[in-house]
Formats: sequence, structure tokens, C-alpha cells
Amino acid sequence: MKPVLVIGGGIAGLTAAVELADAGAPVILVEKSASLGGRVARMHQYFPKLCPPRCGLEMHYRRLRESQAITVLTLAEAVDVRGVPGDYEVDIKIAPRHVTADCTLCGDCAKACKAERADEFNYGLAKTKAAYLPHGMAYPMLYAIDRAACTAGCRECETACKYGAIALDAPPETRTYKIAAVVAATGWKPYDATKLDQLGFGKCPNVVTNVMLERMAAVDGPGGGRILRPSDGREPRTVAFVQCAGSRDEKHLPYCSAVCCSASIKHAAYIRAQYPETAVTIFYIDVRTPGRLEEFYARVNRDANLQLIKGKVARVEENPATHDLLVTAEDVMAGKKNTLQFELVVLATGIVPEPGWLPAGLGRDEFGFVSGSNGGFYAAGCARRPEEVSATVEDATGAALQALACARRGARA
Ligand SMILES: Cc1cc2nc3c(=O)[nH]c(=O)nc-3n(C[C@H](O)[C@H](O)[C@H](O)COP(=O)(O)OP(=O)(O)OC[C@H]3O[C@@H](n4cnc5c(N)ncnc54)[C@H](O)[C@@H]3O)c2cc1C
Repeated sequence: MKPVLVIGGGIAGLTAAVELADAGAPVILVEKSASLGGRVARMHQYFPKLCPPRCGLEMHYRRLRESQAITVLTLAEAVDVRGVPGDYEVDIKIAPRHVTADCTLCGDCAKACKAERADEFNYGLAKTKAAYLPHGMAYPMLYAIDRAACTAGCRECETACKYGAIALDAPPETRTYKIAAVVAATGWKPYDATKLDQLGFGKCPNVVTNVMLERMAAVDGPGGGRILRPSDGREPRTVAFVQCAGSRDEKHLPYCSAVCCSASIKHAAYIRAQYPETAVTIFYIDVRTPGRLEEFYARVNRDANLQLIKGKVARVEENPATHDLLVTAEDVMAGKKNTLQFELVVLATGIVPEPGWLPAGLGRDEFGFVSGSNGGFYAAGCARRPEEVSATVEDATGAALQALACARRGARA
């Protein structure tokens, strides 16, 4: 049987890959970044159980390591697919990592490196050296060198590496594989909060986004897991969450991003775990926590220091002397408009489909989510629609089954 190509190494792509391999299909898994794991690798805890996402990821990594059937290609992107269902050919462009499998993780390359780059894994909250380990749970567990960030002519990392594992001049390559079907699991990115002019992001240091809060709370995050005000490093005594920051808004994202209410309720629990006295206020339009998430909402909502105000936030302004924030919002239940002061504001920004190349057999809907399946092409996870992890995993398993059926038909033809 020819392999199935899985595009994207987040939880959806990983699930599709290990389920396909378990069912007997060879798999080529391509991930455009230097490590697998996607967005969930950046989370502190999962709702509703508030367990670390690393457990689930590690189980997938173990299955990957044990499987002979999965070829993992990182820093790789599919650039062209041609053929018919069950019998395609794909070109995959692979960028050089500039660090070979001889890397022992000693970190001497990063110590010797003087150039810095924005740390995308930490949503810009920190920087890494140009020679960097993607993160502490990276798969593959290898350093990488971002040549675009290197100081011109510098080869200090090469001199520092005792194991000869640096390959600064390695060229990019393109490989061509025969494949039977494609699962696109290209995932999502957060809505750009700088587009929400009236909510202060990018202008007021104590306005952060929900994905940044995940990294602020994470023990492997830049602050070691303590949620502190960016302006002065103080613990916040009052925190506001602005729901639907851009979502369900014709000027930004007309759709509901499905997970932001549960994410903010989870974030309220993060704050409570660190600061028993901090008052948390969630400004919401509707609380959308369907199914089993309703119990999670009820559980967190028992907290006497958590207040929910039904009303859309009109604006967030800063007191420049204190960097405290004035949040003006309607209170629908009380029938009035209020301006309340907070020490930290978290914008619950929504989910936007990751853009980029797709095989011609897959389309995009009006919002850019991958729509429809055609011939041997299937989509899974947040590439299709905003959804939580358990739905993503079920979705990816379904896509794997469809791809497997296509590969079997191809093998019989
Ligand atoms: C603030 C916030 C908190 C959340 N908290 C929770 C929670 O607690 N519990 C829960 O169940 N859900 C939570 N979610 C939802 C969860 O993040 C998603 O369900 C999950 O990330 C979906 O996984 P995915 O694999 O579809 O996408 P992603 O995690 O985005 O993975 C996609 C992968 O594909 C790669 N990729 C993209 N394009 C290409 C390409 N062209 N070629 C190769 N690779 C590519 C990306 O680099 C990435 O690694 C939260 C969401 C938000 C916004």
C-alpha cells in the first residue's frame, strides 16, 4: 500500500498518523515548524480536566517512536500533488535544520550564539538565540539554527559544538514520494489582536491575549509559570477577560470560535490556583460551553471571587501613570453601561485557519477553513473548523479512516 501524506503535526495530524499506522498504512507526516505538537504543546493545561497536554502528546510520540510505518519530516511543506485518488505523487520541500542527529542537547551552540530571534513558541513573550531548542518537549528533541536570524559571517556555534553536529551550509532539498491520499491537518492561528483597535493590545502592556496567558501560566514559559503584570512584574489583584474579542463580529470574525469561553473559564482557574484573593471578571455575550463543558463551567463558577457580566466590551483604556486598565462595557442584566478598573486584561481572541498551500482537491470556505473532501483529500482538526481537542481527535480518526479506505482501493486497483 502507498503511504498516506499527513500535512501538519499538531494533535490532529499526530492522531491521524498514529491511527493510520496502527491500521497498517504507511504514513508520511510533514510539519512546517522544527517540532511536532502544534498549538496544544504551548498550553499549560487542558479543559475540562485541567491536566497537562503533554501527557496526551507524549502518548502520541511514544506511538510514533515505536512505529516503523511513519516517516516524520519537520521543517517540511508539501508544495505540489498530482495524480488520481490512490495514486498521487507529492513534492515536499524540506528546509535544513542546520543541526544533525549527532546533537546531544548540550546547548553549547546556543551559549556561543549571539544573535536573537522572536520566540514564536512563546507568542513573542520572549526571545531565543538563532541556535535554539524549539521547547523542552520538542519532537524531534534536537536544536535547530534559524539562519535568517544569524549574524552575517558568524560560525561560533560550529566552533563551540564538540560533536560536529552543526551543518551551517546544508542546502534545502525537495523530495518526491508516491502517496495514496492526503489528510490536511494544518490547524489554526490566533486572530491578530492588533486589529482590535479599541481594546488596547500592542499599546497597553497589561493587555494580553488568551494564548499569551497560556504561556504565562506554563511552568516552561518565560516567567516560570507565575502570572504577573507585564508592566511591573506584580501579581494582578483584578483581572478582566474580554470574550468574543473579534469573534462574532462582522468587522472581524463573523463566526464563534467555539473554545474561547471554556478557555477563559480555564484561565480563571489558573489565576485562582495562584492567587486566592484576586478578583476575576469575565465580560461575555453568551457563555458557550456545550455538552460536558457545562459541568466544568458550573464548577469554576462556584468561585465567589469570579464575576460574570453579560455585555460586550466597548473599549479598554490605560491609566498611563499606573498602567491599570479602564474597561467600558454594557451590563445587559443591570441595563447600564459601566467603566471598571483592572490590573490585567486578557483578550479572548478567536481561531483563524492557518493559511497556506493546499492540494487543488481541497477548498476553503468563506472564512478560510478547509472545506469538503474530494477524491483522496481529507481535512481534520481546526483546519476544518474551530474545535476543542477531543473533537479534533475524533475528527482526525475519521479522516484517517477515509484516507485508509482510499489507500486500500488504490492498492487493489
Ligand atoms: C486560548 C485557547 C485555549 C485552548 N485550550 C484548550 C483546552 O484547554 N482544551 C481543549 O480541548 N482545547 C483547547 N483549545 C483548542 C485547541 O487548541 C485545538 O483543538 C487544537 O490546537 C487543534 O489542533 P490541530 O492539530 O487541529 O491544530 P494545530 O494545533 O494548529 O496544529 C497544526 C499543525 O500544523 C502545522 N502546519 C500548518 N500548516 C502547515 C503546512 N502547510 N505544512 C506543514 N505543517 C503545517 C502547524 O505548524 C501545526 O504544528 C484552545 C484554544 C485556544 C484558542
